[in-house]
Amino acid sequence: MNPRTLPLRALLFLGLWHTGRRSLASAPGLQEQPKRIAVVGAGIGGTSAAFYLRQEFGAGVKIDVFEPGAVGGRLATVKIGDYEYETGGSVIHPLNLHMKHFMEKLGIPQRKDVPSKMAIFDGKELTFEESDWFIVNFLRILWQFGFSFLRMHMWVESVMDKFMRIYQYQQYGYSFSSVDRLLHAMGGDSFLILLNQTLEETMMSQGFSQIFLNNMVAPITRVNYGQSVRINGFVGAVSLAGAAPGLWAVDGGNKRVCSGLLYNSKSELVPARVTSISVKVRPSKAGTTTSFYEVNYVGESGSAHSLYDIVVIATPLHQGKSDITFSGFSPPIPSHYPGRYHQTVSTLVHGMLNMSYLGTTEQASEFTVSDILTTDSKDSVINSLGSLDPVHIPEGYKRPPASQTKVWKVFSPQPLSQEQLQDMFLSWDSVSETRWLAYPSYRPPHRKTPPFILHNRLYYLNALEWAASAMEMSALSARNVALLAHHRWHQQVGNIDQEDLHTRLRGEL
Ligand SMILES: Cc1cc2nc3c(=O)[nH]c(=O)nc-3n(C[C@H](O)[C@H](O)[C@H](O)COP(=O)(O)OP(=O)(O)OC[C@H]3O[C@@H](n4cnc5c(N)ncnc54)[C@H](O)[C@@H]3O)c2cc1C
Repeated sequence: MNPRTLPLRALLFLGLWHTGRRSLASAPGLQEQPKRIAVVGAGIGGTSAAFYLRQEFGAGVKIDVFEPGAVGGRLATVKIGDYEYETGGSVIHPLNLHMKHFMEKLGIPQRKDVPSKMAIFDGKELTFEESDWFIVNFLRILWQFGFSFLRMHMWVESVMDKFMRIYQYQQYGYSFSSVDRLLHAMGGDSFLILLNQTLEETMMSQGFSQIFLNNMVAPITRVNYGQSVRINGFVGAVSLAGAAPGLWAVDGGNKRVCSGLLYNSKSELVPARVTSISVKVRPSKAGTTTSFYEVNYVGESGSAHSLYDIVVIATPLHQGKSDITFSGFSPPIPSHYPGRYHQTVSTLVHGMLNMSYLGTTEQASEFTVSDILTTDSKDSVINSLGSLDPVHIPEGYKRPPASQTKVWKVFSPQPLSQEQLQDMFLSWDSVSETRWLAYPSYRPPHRKTPPFILHNRLYYLNALEWAASAMEMSALSARNVALLAHHRWHQQVGNIDQEDLHTRLRGEL
């Protein structure tokens, strides 16, 4: 078959995106390479930035990654009994190609799959429950939602098709100076419209009913983003894609990818919190002036500072997430951009579920549903309730039924009270609570997403979270920022913000 007739996705799957045309972006410029780069934050965004910066700038540059907490950030595990469990970011879409690439590069296997089963709870009873049989599920969905489910799937596919274009652009070394330009390059005006209207508006305009939105779409946005169908249409599509089959996770815990990337990039981990960044101008040998960034930080041994040629901020610049002061910049850079992060409390309970909480008469010994989603009703105090498997699946593991004591994960907007726990569980022997400022609180229309470029050589990776927050989005943004930093350093403006790339590159495949 002529490769030009193959859809882009198929080519990406065949691995052509690995072998592509990076020479375009890596052509040496006249200017010498930077000597020192700082990355602030060691979540998946910061560690993948270190990985891609090393790829772009080569072995000679020193890369320091600042992190006051645990490597992984919002990818974290807790230990219950003999096993570790994910408490933050947990599942990865089968088409998240950067995450897949990291796994291959680092030689980390995927977690063994344990088949899952979903149900929907309206705060009083289960309104939908998957069966073990495909045909039964098909008929139940058809009976309850008609063809809306299938149409939703087709809509998400059409968004995904455009989304996948970014991998080709990045493989050819193209980068974008703003979130809007990046989204526009992927999906044209339609992606900018998605960003600025609610998922509800988007789907209603396509003929989906309010009942379908309430009973099927809202439970998915609630489990994935703790928010209603009034999130933006782009993150809504990402959320619905997360309801597709084939989701995967990392054997041993998703945060392993972050430590693997740090190691692979030969970066130095500085266990310290960055407090301020200022711009310093120094005379250079050539008689002109050069500017550096002074990064001030506080670690266990007190405060210190270092100078860098390039700095990448890989933590959200929002209230409650980080508190970095920027001084000497004109125009000024704020410590916090407008908009807040949404709280999701992740409570892991090792206990016995109270089946009557779900308003079902099913026998607990027969109940093997793993993911209980909730509708957006005043009776739903939780966003979801799931039976959790350990991050490493032992040989012969079978998910126990609800009649046995096991680990459950509850997502809720507020911490669970003792009464609420007593409603949900007959008994428990441990409860572990993590309060996350988990993802942006999406309230379209979004007036202005924060910039990728804060100053000449100072970049901000988490700007893209305002389109959608996910591990892959941080990795995509990391690659974009690394390419942007490289092209701007070498003044390769032809690789930035190119219009019409989709049409131009079609002939290249
Ligand atoms: C409960 C929950 C469930 C989720 N589920 C999924 C999912 O299933 N799939 C998915 O793809 N995504 C999921 N996500 C989203 C995903 O986890 C995030 O989008 C992603 O991990 C963000 O990574 P990041 O590196 O950009 O930011 P972070 O992980 O937040 O990393 C930022 C790092 O910067 C550090 N830092 C902060 N301030 C400073 C400072 N001043 N100096 C130095 N370092 C600093 C922080 O300690 C942190 O480690 C979930 C998130 C949560 C919370």
